[in-house]
Amino acid sequence: GDEASGKKLVKETRMIMGTFAEISTYSNDVKNAGAAIDAALNEMERMDALLSNYKKDSELSRVNREAAKAPVPCSEEFLEFIEQSLFFSELSGGAFDITVSPIVSLWGFFNEKGHIPSDEEINRLLPSVSYKNIEIKRNGDKKKPGTVFFKHISTQIDPGAIGKGYAVDKALNVLKKYGIDNACINLGGNIYVLGVSDGKDAWRVGIQHPRYKNEILGYLELKDEATATSGDYERFFEINGVRYSHIIDPRTGKPVNGTIAVTIIAPSGTDVDALSTSVYVLGQEKGLKYLREIPGAEALIACEKGGKIVLYATRGFNEKFTRVENEGK
Ligand code: FAD
Ligand code: MG
Ligand code: MG
Repeated sequence: GDEASGKKLVKETRMIMGTFAEISTYSNDVKNAGAAIDAALNEMERMDALLSNYKKDSELSRVNREAAKAPVPCSEEFLEFIEQSLFFSELSGGAFDITVSPIVSLWGFFNEKGHIPSDEEINRLLPSVSYKNIEIKRNGDKKKPGTVFFKHISTQIDPGAIGKGYAVDKALNVLKKYGIDNACINLGGNIYVLGVSDGKDAWRVGIQHPRYKNEILGYLELKDEATATSGDYERFFEINGVRYSHIIDPRTGKPVNGTIAVTIIAPSGTDVDALSTSVYVLGQEKGLKYLREIPGAEALIACEKGGKIVLYATRGFNEKFTRVENEGK
């Protein structure tokens, strides 16, 4: 708590979308702050119930089961989620693609039993993987907003690279309705920072070192913007000393090589989640070109070259970033 302003830290943590959801705010009105955080976490749980591919009764799972047979009527929120995902697919030329799921399963990233598939196995699944297989029809009717149809029999949607960011934005809207003017929303590393922490200091967000588990690379000082990191250290397996990570190039069906972590700063949670995965797939050169299309987007890209970690940051990123010394543990 801050003595001068009399504000107290109010904070709540829950498990949502298979990870930690935490919201913090400094407030003079602890009761309202607690109610706001509670409602915002409930909103994230509602997004989990809508978008989860781990929950059989979510709208997303229903679409995955039925949309290859006939167009499935969907809620406005669900259609918006798919449209935002398709926007990033178009922009990235298919480097970001929510239909990558059959390939992610083939490599065993959903059941944590890693397996190196043959080219034949991959090539058999690749025709199902394309955002162009998702067809949205809008009805222009509030009660029946539209439908989703899959043009390929094996197409499936995986919300993993954008769903947490989308939920962060929904939670932010709830906090604002309660009049909250400062907060840090964190859903599994997808972070939105609202205002200044205790009325005077910027919120600080540490960025994990991609190789030293207990160290940070540095920290960001942010205000009214989001950040997220995609890294090869989040979900991966190793066979014969080679690391295979959960981010797949949808065009080849293989895990991405070279990039080991990408941290993005951008205006919204949805932006940073989708962009961190996209830039990770595109790599440094193409990734930076792509980022210029998005106003307010900045990046830190970590690559591994000859066993060494090479960092590249955009100028706007460096302005908000403080590097720390690493001990290498
Ligand atoms: P990101 O880089 O943001 O995303 C990587 C993930 O996106 C990969 O794991 C893969 O699934 C997918 N992907 C890979 N390559 C691409 C690509 N090129 N384009 C687009 N997508 C790609 N985990 C659990 O263990 N239990 C749960 O119950 C659970 N529920 C979830 C519910 C929801 C709604 C969401 C959004 C996620 C849930 N997750 C759950 C986590 C999920 O399975 C992923 O592991 C997680 O979202 C990966 O996020 P990330 O930030 O580490 O990586
Ligand atoms: Mg992502
Ligand atoms: Mg993410």
